[in-house]
Amino acid sequence: MNFSAINTASDKQTNHGAIQTYVVLGGGTAGWISAAILIRSLVNTKVNIHVVESPHTPTVGVGEATIPSIMDMLQYLNIPAQDFINKTNATFKLAIKFTDWYAKGAHYWHPFGYIGNEIDGKPFYQHWLKYQQQGGALSFTDFSPAIALAKQNKFFIPDPKQPTNLSSSSYALHFDAALVAKYLQHYCETRGVKIHKAHVKDVKRDNTGNIGQLIFNDNKTLSGDFFIDCSGQQGLLIGKTLRVGYENWQQYLPVDSAAVVQTENSGALPPYTESIAHAHGWRWRIPLQNRTGNGYVYCSDFCDDNAAMRLLESNVFGEKLTDTRCLKFTTGMRDKCWEKNCLAVGLSSGFLEPLESTSIYLIMRAMLNFVQSIPTKDPSPFTVSEYNRLMRHEYHCIRDFIVLHYCATTRKDTPYWQMWQSLSIPDSLQTKIALFKEYGRLYQDKSDLFSQDSWYAVLEGMGVRPNAYDPVVDASVAEKIHSALPSAAEALIDSAGKALGHEEYLERIR
Ligand SMILES: Cc1cc2nc3c(=O)[nH]c(=O)nc-3n(C[C@H](O)[C@H](O)[C@H](O)COP(=O)(O)OP(=O)(O)OC[C@H]3O[C@@H](n4cnc5c(N)ncnc54)[C@H](O)[C@@H]3O)c2cc1C
Repeated sequence: MNFSAINTASDKQTNHGAIQTYVVLGGGTAGWISAAILIRSLVNTKVNIHVVESPHTPTVGVGEATIPSIMDMLQYLNIPAQDFINKTNATFKLAIKFTDWYAKGAHYWHPFGYIGNEIDGKPFYQHWLKYQQQGGALSFTDFSPAIALAKQNKFFIPDPKQPTNLSSSSYALHFDAALVAKYLQHYCETRGVKIHKAHVKDVKRDNTGNIGQLIFNDNKTLSGDFFIDCSGQQGLLIGKTLRVGYENWQQYLPVDSAAVVQTENSGALPPYTESIAHAHGWRWRIPLQNRTGNGYVYCSDFCDDNAAMRLLESNVFGEKLTDTRCLKFTTGMRDKCWEKNCLAVGLSSGFLEPLESTSIYLIMRAMLNFVQSIPTKDPSPFTVSEYNRLMRHEYHCIRDFIVLHYCATTRKDTPYWQMWQSLSIPDSLQTKIALFKEYGRLYQDKSDLFSQDSWYAVLEGMGVRPNAYDPVVDASVAEKIHSALPSAAEALIDSAGKALGHEEYLERIR
């Protein structure tokens, strides 16, 4: 994620019709990330930024697994990673381990970073495919440095000055969402963001249809030039006020509920998220320094809330620290994320279910795209429609990647899994799989969040194999390459074995 490409504005620039006042509605993860990116991007300008959070409406309170772009965001905000990790009880995440997805008893990994190295300009996957078709026993992700570390509960941050065979690993964080909100609130407050603990009871529009004012419960008002709607799933500004519709994607992603509970830690702290498929959905396990977050994502057509809570509770380790509660959601996205003088960020803009931990990424992406095209009070329609196109494309790419995790399953053991045999698959994903099945080729879309290696890992994990490897691979000195593969995989395990244990690494940071 290229945060470094953002130009921070300066008060030396004179902008006719420049926005003076931004109002962020919502103090959840989306609200605080939005305000932090705004204040950082508009540093030295005279803009006013307000955040409004209701004392009555709680945040969703989940959202604890991230992807590597979180580290880019910390760097952009000049937040020392060590301080952030300590104050949010964070742990490291190298991968997701998927259990029972392809079939009961089977598991696979989706690691961060590269898997193997390109050879003769062809993806490593193609060489591995030929090696495997010729009887090679090692799996594709045996060539991932992140997996070599994850399997041994080790952790390592690559140092660009000292390259090793683990250098192409990458990592993200698991953290406590409430502590992250607190951390970013402090970040924003100390940089001049004004905070209002107030419940919005009404919204006034001006004669152009723009949002003009928020009206609080105590009848006080707050005016602004531009509004960022981080009010959660209800979309108070984008949906309820501006009437922008929501495109429902339940025909592709029918899960609509989650039971969640926090428990005491028990056993070693794994440097990865676990995703375990169950009868009517899947369960996550996210380890933090001081506790574990657990959740069961399910489809309410097949499982009621009580049954879901029981299933979750009977599968957690460690004492319960909270009551088990249920959340409801609708997978999909807003028809437009930017309408008039309002930008929808976070759950107000859409939700794709938490399988690949992409929501916080989408918050950062929404703000990154926005600050790259900071509008005047009268935004150009081209800017707005290009923004909406980019966000729509992001959502579509991620949606396809998530659907892939389900649509290729061989499970038929419950009505829920049987349903997957007949569910619609987006055309874009069908085309991608069809092309892949010919010669294992992926036609990479540069704006797809997920890299080729991510797609290969999940395609392979879900048993989707091409009919043949790309014939171009035969032009390489294949035998030499193939005979070197086992020792390369062994060397990864050796190097990972010498790295610090995950807990030891965290201890050093503390
Ligand atoms: C089950 C589940 C698991 C998830 N797991 C992950 C994950 O692992 N990784 C990930 O990246 N994402 C995950 N997400 C998504 C993630 O939780 C959200 O993207 C993130 O928390 C942002 O939420 P939000 O700030 O948009 O909304 P919320 O947290 O709902 O915050 C809404 C804010 O708006 C305020 N508000 C609402 N109405 C008013 C009003 N009338 N007046 C004033 N203030 C108001 C509230 O007080 C609150 O502060 C998950 C989501 C769910 C449902």
